[in-house]
Amino acid sequence: MGRESWVVSNDGAAREPTDDSRLTTHDPRLIRVDLHTHSTWSDGLLSPTALVEEAASRGVRALALTDHDTVAGIPEAQATGERLGVEVIPGVELSTSLGRGGEIHLLGYFIDIEAPALLERLGEYARARAERMERMIERLRRVGAPVDPERVREIAGHGTMGRPHLARALIEAGHAADLADAFDRYIGGGKPAYVPRPRVDPAEAIALVRGAGGVAVLAHPFSVGGVEPVLDRLVPAGLAGLEVDYGEYGPEDREILREIAARRELIATGGSDYHGPDRRTARELGSVPVTMAAVEALRSALTPLPPSPIPMGEGGR
Ligand SMILES: [Zn+2]
Ligand SMILES: [Zn+2]
Repeated sequence: MGRESWVVSNDGAAREPTDDSRLTTHDPRLIRVDLHTHSTWSDGLLSPTALVEEAASRGVRALALTDHDTVAGIPEAQATGERLGVEVIPGVELSTSLGRGGEIHLLGYFIDIEAPALLERLGEYARARAERMERMIERLRRVGAPVDPERVREIAGHGTMGRPHLARALIEAGHAADLADAFDRYIGGGKPAYVPRPRVDPAEAIALVRGAGGVAVLAHPFSVGGVEPVLDRLVPAGLAGLEVDYGEYGPEDREILREIAARRELIATGGSDYHGPDRRTARELGSVPVTMAAVEALRSALTPLPPSPIPMGEGGR
């Protein structure tokens, strides 16, 4: 027999020391957790099935699918997870902002993906996103870099359309050399075809997650500007955790965040922010040192759902 399949990742690099090749994935050292991933339902490159298969092959035993502003990929991911022995935690990543300045991304975990208020609000976000895309395409036309709106939709597939899809259409149309060039010249913040997202208040997003029975965690905290002032506002609003072990953060940044999380009694979570093969090597699926303890801490912080409106005790006969 050859080595276990998880030893070599799909990019051909050996992930584990040769000595570990004899161990099974039941070895606790190899139990991996990844709480931040994307599929084709937002801007990831893998379908939920392919994502969970890839996770399983890397020894990931608990995976949160956290697509941007949608939970549409969760059922498929969970079905695959059941087949492969991967616990798929229903998640979402909500884009919010506090007035001017950077975006604040909030992760919601263990949400009820059928909660009506959640689905209604996500539908509104999708409509706002489509309108924003139309406006950016119109601006591109005006600055002499037209793209076919149908093509952008095709590139996005069933995923929510975003700027990466628009960037690919720009490249295809010969207006940009690569993704970075497309953002630098046209669709990055402050560039001629950029249209800001409609603003969603982070406190509202936290309430949405909690209303769906979930736990809210601040994603990649260093992209919010000042971490502490943002936490001063979000912790009282019900924020429960901080993404400490983020794929792209180095050891020093992680230590700073771990200290903040401990001081504020926030759950320290982590995730790679995996978007698919070849999308930023620091974001390798299952590459972050998160343990099942973080999953259990999130589970025990769950917001109880409001009592069911259906009277109990009458049914059955
Ligand atoms: Zn994010
Ligand atoms: Zn993300």
